[in-house]
Amino acid sequence: MIEIAPRLKRIKPSPSSTASALARKLREEGRDIVALTAGEPDFDTPAHIIEAAHKAMRDGQTRYTDTGGTPALKDAIREKFKRENALTYDRSQVMAGTGGKQVIFNALMATVDSGDEVIIPAPYWVSYPDIVLMADGVPVPLECTRQDSFKLTPDKLAAAITPRTKWLILNSPSNPTGACYTADELKALAAILSDHPQIGVLTDDMYEHLRYGDEAFATMAQAAPEMADRVLTVNGLSKAYAMTGWRLGYAGGPAPLIAAMTKLQSQSTSNPSAITQAAAVAALSGPQDHLAAWMTHYRERRDFVVDAINKISHLSCNVPDGAFYSYIACDGAIGRRTPDGKTLETDEDVCKYLIESVGVATVHGAAYGLSPYFRISFATDMATLKDACARMGKAMDALGT
Ligand code: PLP
Repeated sequence: MIEIAPRLKRIKPSPSSTASALARKLREEGRDIVALTAGEPDFDTPAHIIEAAHKAMRDGQTRYTDTGGTPALKDAIREKFKRENALTYDRSQVMAGTGGKQVIFNALMATVDSGDEVIIPAPYWVSYPDIVLMADGVPVPLECTRQDSFKLTPDKLAAAITPRTKWLILNSPSNPTGACYTADELKALAAILSDHPQIGVLTDDMYEHLRYGDEAFATMAQAAPEMADRVLTVNGLSKAYAMTGWRLGYAGGPAPLIAAMTKLQSQSTSNPSAITQAAAVAALSGPQDHLAAWMTHYRERRDFVVDAINKISHLSCNVPDGAFYSYIACDGAIGRRTPDGKTLETDEDVCKYLIESVGVATVHGAAYGLSPYFRISFATDMATLKDACARMGKAMDALGT
């Protein structure tokens, strides 16, 4: 028997992947399951990006590249940051990896030492705390309430800082709540950090392009330029270009940090797929008009879901400003009895009840660090969403006192 390292015992498999896998398994067993678990667009990768990948393969771009990405990709990333975020980086200040997840993994593994603390506003994307734990660090989740639109306030941040604080992680628009920080809100958080020059800010802008409001997108390095030498701006192609399976993420930040992340990657996965890199150049530099069409669908779905959920007994939700998730409060269902006599005690119980009674797969809020809630993804067609909401309504109506 090969003993598994204690480091691995500290972490858990991604709960959203686990929930999706359970939905698939039940479906294979013949159950009628509506899965609202997937964190990925239901659209196809735009045709010109696929064509760029074909061309790259035909042209022989099938070999190893520089670890952090080809010069062409680095330049496309730099131009994206300049054009969309008014951020200027040279080639030594950007790198690409096999997905945003790997880029975040690189950054935390390269910087977090034993006992270092990482402040993570909750609810959070499920992988942040586990990556910190793998790096021997201490995740410090800070609960951000629904009343605060699930956003971190300067007071809460100030109260959580210690001499061991290494990073603050921000994710806007947020997975799972869709909350978006304004430039003023970011400036207010930066003001707290101005007295603590040892703290870096990792901003995860993966859902940058999926926003519903008119307000311009804000990211820390742009909103508070005085922070630029300690901000790592992470982004990727998965959500904005429907390229989850292609695996490409990237980051811009201080050159020594980018060099350390690249060194780590050189001893793990090496360069991201050369073919994906060529496709990424086409994605970042080519037409962006697919987004407006996709956003029309996402907005219609969001409006439908928010309205439908708020009409279901015992459930309610805020209006998400970005991404394609609704984080649904289920406190009204807690303490109630199911038709077969079980009392719902946690949001995990609620999710179990939903899948068992009406076949709707969701992800429980405890996985994201704030209960009692559950997350649904509305990156699916309207007919599926209508069916899912009708089923959830039926399940909630069947609860006793
Ligand atoms: N960050 C957030 C907030 C996410 O939701 C995801 C994916 O679900 C990622 C990062 C990672 O994306 P990828 O590794 O596909 O680029």
